[in-house]
This record gives sequence, C-alpha cells and structure tokens, in this order.
Amino acid sequence: MIEMRSDTFTLPTAAMMAAMAAAPLGDDVYGEDPTVNRLEALAAQRLGKQAACLVPSGTMANLASIMAHAPRGASLIAGSESDIYLYEAAGAAVCGGVSYSAVPNQPDGTLKLTDLTEAIPPDPDDPQFAMPALLCLENTQNRCGGVVLPQQYQAEAYAWAKAHGLNVHLDGARIFNAAVASGLAASEIAKHADSVQFCLSKGLSAPIGSIVAGTTDFVGRVRRIRKMLGGGMRQAGVIAAAGIVALDEMVDRLAVDHELARRLADGLKQMPAIEVEAEPQTNILLFRVHDLEWSSFVDAVATAGVALMGFGHGRIRAVTHSGLSADDIDQALEIIAKVLK
Ligand SMILES: *Cc1c(COP(=O)(O)O)cnc(C)c1O
Repeated sequence: MIEMRSDTFTLPTAAMMAAMAAAPLGDDVYGEDPTVNRLEALAAQRLGKQAACLVPSGTMANLASIMAHAPRGASLIAGSESDIYLYEAAGAAVCGGVSYSAVPNQPDGTLKLTDLTEAIPPDPDDPQFAMPALLCLENTQNRCGGVVLPQQYQAEAYAWAKAHGLNVHLDGARIFNAAVASGLAASEIAKHADSVQFCLSKGLSAPIGSIVAGTTDFVGRVRRIRKMLGGGMRQAGVIAAAGIVALDEMVDRLAVDHELARRLADGLKQMPAIEVEAEPQTNILLFRVHDLEWSSFVDAVATAGVALMGFGHGRIRAVTHSGLSADDIDQALEIIAKVLK
C-alpha cells in the first residue's frame, strides 16, 4: 500500500529504535527522566522559548495550553477550519469550561483581523459576553492545504491580540514543515506566539509525542494540567529518545516530502479528470476528481494500492512523508490514471 492518508503513518527510523533501546530512564512525573529532560531542553531551544514539556499527543498539547491560558468561562478564538475547533472533541469546552468562537479561515490559512475584531465583545464591561482570552493559530494550516502562514501576518495577528488583551497559542503541529518551506528558523515563526505546540509524531516520524513550549511559568502550569489529564508518564524517555532523533535528523529532510508533494501535484495536473486546487507549499496536497464521486474514487484507488483521504466538500487529501519515495509517487500516479480510465 502506498500510504498517503497522513504523515502520522510514519514509522520510527532505525536510529530512533536504537536510541529508544539505549536511553537512560527515570520517573518523569518526578522530573527525573534524563532523556525527557534532554528533549525538553532541546525543543525549548529550537523554538526560542524558556521551557518545554513533552506530552502524549498534539490534542493534549493544545488542550493543556488552552487551559493554562484561559480561565473557565472565557472563550478562545480559532479558525473554523482548525484542528482545535474541528478535531479535538471539544476538549476546551468539556475539560476547560472554555467556549469556542470560530472565525473563517481564508484560503491562505489566515484569520482576517477585521473578523477577529468582530469576535471581541464591543464592551468588556457588558456581563452578557464570555471574554476571549486566547487566539489560536495553526501553522502549517492543514485544511487549507498545508499552507504556511505569512510571517508578516503572524506579526500582525500577534500585535492585534496584545492590543486586545489576548494571548496567542500556535498549533504548530507541522511548524518544522513551515520552517523548512519558508527558510526560517522555527524560533522565528514561534516568536509571534506566547505558546506553541508541535508534533514529533507526524512528518518528524517519531512514534509518539508532542511538545508544548512557552515561558517557564506557563510550562509549569501545563505540567500540572498534563498530570490532571492523565498525561504524566513515568519512564517517558523511551518516547523522548525518538523525539531527540526526530529533531536532530528528521527536520531538514522534510524538504524531500515537499518535493514529493509537488511531484504528485505535477502528475495529477496532467489528468483532465483531476483538479489540483493550489500548488502544494509543504507536504499536503488537496485535489478534486470530476465525473466521479470522491468516495468511489478513494475506494477504487485504495483497492488498487493507494491510500488517500476524503477531506470534506468533495476534496481529497494526499500527504507525503518519510515512508515514501519518488518511485512510490510515480507508481501512485500510474495507479490513479488507471483507475480513472
Ligand atoms: C495532528 C494535529 C493535531 C493533533 O495531534 P494528535 O497527536 O493527533 O493529537 C493538532 N493540530 C494539527 C494541526 C494537527 O495536524
């Protein structure tokens, strides 16, 4: 199977397995796992933040961050196409007592500042309204096709948030894809946010784990919430060891994934039945199939050996990652062409 449903299907590399087997371990709830401590220091440094904390998933990273920023009864503002709003089981509301104010994502992944301002109650002293405490941005923006938020926009959104008394949390599940695609350091991208989370388990190919980073005080609050949510792990160095290899060896090679996404897009554009919505900026490609129901198409190519994902509104998503080669992409294109015929 040529697996293109998601970059979460990546398997740990041989170097990761070796590092996991050799990692010195301790009890991380006591802060005594040396491998976790090494990963957290490394991640904080890469993101240009004071401190960082390893958590089991991106979902928990976002939830713990939201709860550390926003008190019960507050609201958060997030994109209508964001993972936080759509795919995290309303955790902020359920666990944090924080309501969602969704603002439409523009095709470039941004949220218009005028729309953000509309989402702020006109009079902060009016007790009818939940008070927004947090703006959540996503970079790269998955459902907009893995687009990289413009750096200028992130600066403007951060300034807007500060002017309105909000903190900014960046869901940077794929922040290193954004960094590699734009040629910027991840710390440059993260500087326009008070906190950031990224996934070790996607394109970086580690089996488990996400990182939350921010000020020392903020990360201290995240650690208590992580424990409360059941994410305090004991000998978590086995996970962290793979995460260290991910940061050391798997970041620069994301450029290969981006090249493969462009190769796939170029091949699909040759097929009259397929409409590629936009040139892929990173490792995610969205497209449509004409003359055929999207679900019949996805089923047929899966039977023929290519796994793709239906993505709503008739769109199909393909994600490239370290488990794929240029040959796999060429073979996938052949299979897709045959199915369409
Ligand atoms: C995958 C993803 C998450 C959630 O990460 P999990 O580890 O799957 O919980 C959050 N935000 C974005 C943008 C993602 O792509």
